[in-house]
This record gives sequence, structure tokens and C-alpha cells, in this order.
Amino acid sequence: MALKGIAVSPGIAIGKAFLLNMESFVIPKIAIKKEEVPEEIERFKQVLKQTREEIINIQKKLNRELGSKHSDIFNAHLLILDDPVLTEQMTEKIKKRKLTAEYLFQQIIRNYKKAFSKIDDAYFKERISDIQDVGKRIIRNLLGRKKTNLANLERNVIVISYDLSPSDTALMRKEKIMGFATDVGGKTSHTAIMARALEIPAVVGLEKISTKAKNGDLLIIDGDKGIVIINPRPEVIEKYYKKKEEVLKFNQELKKIRALPAQTKDGCPIEITANIELPEEIDSVLKEGAEGIGLYRTEYFFLNRSVLPTEEEQYQAYKFVAQKMNPHPVVIRTLDLGGDKFLSHLNIPAEMNPFMGWRAIRFCLARPDIFKTQLKAILRASKYGKLKIMYPMISSVEEFRQANRVLAEVKKDLEEQSIPFDKKVEIGAMIEIPSAALTADILAKEADFFSIGTNDLIQYSLAVDRINEKIAYLYEPNHPAILRLIKTVIEAAHKEGIWVGMCGEMCSEPVFIPLLLGLGLTKFSVSPLMLLRVKKVIRSVSLKEAKAAAREILNLETIKDIKRFSRSRFNIQRLQRCIYPTRQF
Ligand code: PEP
Ligand code: MG
Repeated sequence: MALKGIAVSPGIAIGKAFLLNMESFVIPKIAIKKEEVPEEIERFKQVLKQTREEIINIQKKLNRELGSKHSDIFNAHLLILDDPVLTEQMTEKIKKRKLTAEYLFQQIIRNYKKAFSKIDDAYFKERISDIQDVGKRIIRNLLGRKKTNLANLERNVIVISYDLSPSDTALMRKEKIMGFATDVGGKTSHTAIMARALEIPAVVGLEKISTKAKNGDLLIIDGDKGIVIINPRPEVIEKYYKKKEEVLKFNQELKKIRALPAQTKDGCPIEITANIELPEEIDSVLKEGAEGIGLYRTEYFFLNRSVLPTEEEQYQAYKFVAQKMNPHPVVIRTLDLGGDKFLSHLNIPAEMNPFMGWRAIRFCLARPDIFKTQLKAILRASKYGKLKIMYPMISSVEEFRQANRVLAEVKKDLEEQSIPFDKKVEIGAMIEIPSAALTADILAKEADFFSIGTNDLIQYSLAVDRINEKIAYLYEPNHPAILRLIKTVIEAAHKEGIWVGMCGEMCSEPVFIPLLLGLGLTKFSVSPLMLLRVKKVIRSVSLKEAKAAAREILNLETIKDIKRFSRSRFNIQRLQRCIYPTRQF
């Protein structure tokens, strides 16, 4: 069976399916001391409370999205949680056996299941899965893990899940996880971006993969075409092994252009830098010959931990990146939390429209304690390399000034304490909100540089959620509105004599590279995986021709016309092959 989804991270993976959160836990038998008994009982009660809250939240969400019919199924879970006999039994057991709550609770669940399955009644048989579900949730909470810890998987697997958060994905390592596939998601979701950063082949938006695949099924992930094949026939497996070899060969070949300059066919130099999420990516950035880091998404340093990183921890991370990249520049983006990236311990209330809500610079300006700590760490690290600071989600010049006022306070503090930092550190704005793009001429007078964030600029301009697979067809960089906004921003920057780059995913797509060059873009920041591929495309484009084509494209009225024009003028198929060796058209 083959399912078609959205190709988000190139490459081919062939391996066994691992359905996330469908696995059983192995709980060691651990004794507790007599004096720890009351604490253990209390911990169990607290976990019941926590689980109750979780279930109520899920119910509310389901109710909103699908109606009460679907959310009612959780009533049975709540009844189990509220059963006083359960708490009594557990209290007794902990007192008597002096073992951890999770170990004892697992036994209780087993006994319940056994007893229910012996009753010859359909109602009771159905309740077994409720007991199992709620039991697993309680055990997971007792073990203190939200979900399977993807960092600790012991086998080589292909992860299958309904959804994966960017923080889940950040835990993946390609030595353990060969690929992943999800039911939901879009190409510019942070989960997809993370997959490319980790070089893990991935397909999202498959709609039904989590119900069609079973644990242990053999899967093929085709991250170039966006296809997942479940239990393929032997000849298909063989075909894909051959493709895998082709990809390897292609990657070897690609290395040859590392030493060649990043320039167009007619000799115009273009800067290609990398987007990173984790300091560990620096090695592949250097290996691929990047001319710097155009976007360091620092929020990943804040995810998957129970407390905020201290100033010292942040300083060490930024210093490491600055030193490793020196003399190349590193654009450090200040915290962009919110949207699809959250810290559970900050208790940020759930929002109906998180991408348009309390996110990025808005959050930082409301939490100057967190913002200042980060700015201080960046400034301290600035003396070890060429750091630049960039604020995300700037919507107006007032907001940019407000952020700069906080920065000025931090600089003053450092000066008073005689802590050295680079006094000339450049301050830039991400241009990813239409209001910022339309007032780029005003912002350009105050910012030292711009970086165009098309991932968000497209979602906000076209009102298309970037992580929703149902409307992915509307997420269209070729929209005339987007091209006009990009042109406006580039021209405004050039007029004021500041530099402008792009760090959104649009600039790694071969179809858009000639067009962006034609619109005057000279700085591309892409995921490390794409560095050489993008260079290959750029080297095949004539700037003169791209400029002429872009002028014509700007006069076209529809997406369809733009696509048709680009396809014929830029020989898109040839360009696509520079990036996706196995994709056929
Ligand atoms: C963007 O919006 O284009 C961008 C680069 O930032 P992020 O993807 O982290 O929102
Ligand atoms: Mg963004």
C-alpha cells in the first residue's frame, strides 16, 4: 500500500515502523524506603489529578473541533480516574509492598484487564481498551515522560505518528531514526524544518499513516516524492535500494562543488549561509562550506527542558557557535517561542490562533526578564566572533525600537560591570509580517539588515496556516502578492544601503532560486543539507536572464501563469534534479 503526502525532507529510508506512543513501557521494580511511602502516595494522587486535567483538555479540544460525540469517549477514562477504589487499592499496595507507584499501578491495570476479559459481556470487553489507554497515560505521567523519549530509542526505526511537535523532532538522531511520517503537517512547519536539519527523510500530511501502519511493518519513506509504502513487494524494495545508492552517489558528486565559488553562471557572487537550530549542526555547516549562519533559531535551546537555560548556559552555546564560525558571521535570532513551539513549564495559556498570538518578539517584550537574559548572553558571546542580533516577527518600527530599548539597557548594564562585548554588533529585523514588508522603507532607516522570513510571510499574507496539510495547496510562494512583497523589501533595503537576505524555505527551492536572483536577492540562508544543492542551482543560472524573466513575471496576474512561465523559462525540471536526484516528472 502506498500513501501520498507532502515531501518535507529528502532521501530514502527503508526500515521497520515504530508507532509512537503505541509501545509498552518496561518498568523496573524499584523499592522505596518506609519514610518515602506518604510521598509516593501523594505523587500518585497528583498524577491522577494531572492526568484528569490532560483528559479534560483533550475533551475540550475535541469538542471544539469534532463535537461532543467524539469527546464523550473520554468520559469512561474520567470515570476510571475518579474511581475511589483505585486510589484506595494503590494506597494500600504502596504501604504494604513499598515499591514505586508505576510498578504497582501496572500490576493493578493488568489485574483489571484480566478480570474484565473473563466477563462474557460486550460492554466490559470494550472497557478493556479504556483501561489500557488511561492506564498508559497515568504510567507515562508517573514516569515523568510526556511521550516516548525519541532521543533514547534503541533500534533503527521509522517513526510513525499522528503528529510530531518541533520539540519531539529535535530529539531525533539519524543514527536511531531512519525516517518519519505523520498524518498532519506542512512543508514549512518547524517539524519539517527540523527534519531537514537532522537530515532525516520525512513525509508529512499523509492523513492516515498512523492508522494504516502497524508496529513492525516494513516501510519505505521516499522523502523526495512524498510517498510512504507499507509492506512493499520485494521488487519495489530492490528498486528503492537502488535509488538509495543513487542518492549516495549524488551526494558524493555534490561534494565536488564545495570548493567552487557561489556565483551565478555570469559571475555574480552570491552569499550562501546556513540556518541552524542546534549548535551540533555547526560541523555539517562547516563541512558544506557555508559562508556563515544566516539564521540561528535559538528557541530550540529552550525546548525539551524543565527550566529555562541560564545566562551562562546560553552564553556558552552562543560563544561556541561564534568561535566555530569565526571569521564568518552568525545571525542569532532572539527567542521565537509560541506558534508551534512551546515550553510546558512556562504555563503559557493555550491560544486559538497561536501563530498570530503571543509569539516571538511579543512574548519577549512581555517577559523582559527572559529577553534580557538572552540578550546579555549574546552580547557577552559577541566578542568571540562576528555575531549579529535579529528580532523575529517585527510588525512595526515601534516594536523594533522597543526591542532596541531593552537591548540598550542590557548594553548599559554590561558597560557598568565592565563586561566586554562587540559594541558594533549589527541589529536586524526579520521581515515576515506583511506590515513590516510594507513599511520596509521606514524600518530600513533604523535596522542594520533585513532577513526575509517567507515561511511566515506567506502564511500571514495569504492567511494560510503553514502547518495545516488541508490547505497546503493554498500555501503558494508564487502568489503575485508574495513576489511583490519580496521585491518591495529588497528595494527598500538597497535604497537605504543595508543588506538583505532571505532565510525562509522558499530560497532553498530550485523553482524559486532564479526568480529570487532576478528580484535582486544576493544572500540565501538555507538548511545545511541544502547548502551545496542551492549552490549547484545558483551556478547554473544566468543573472542577466533571471532579471529579465523576473521583470516579466512581475507583470503576470495569476499563480498559474507564473508557474507556467517559470517552468518554461527556467527549465525547472533540470533545476529540480540538482536537488532531488530521484524525483521524476
Ligand atoms: C520564516 O518565517 O521564514 C523563518 C525563517 O522563521 P521560522 O521558520 O522559524 O518561523
Ligand atoms: Mg518565522
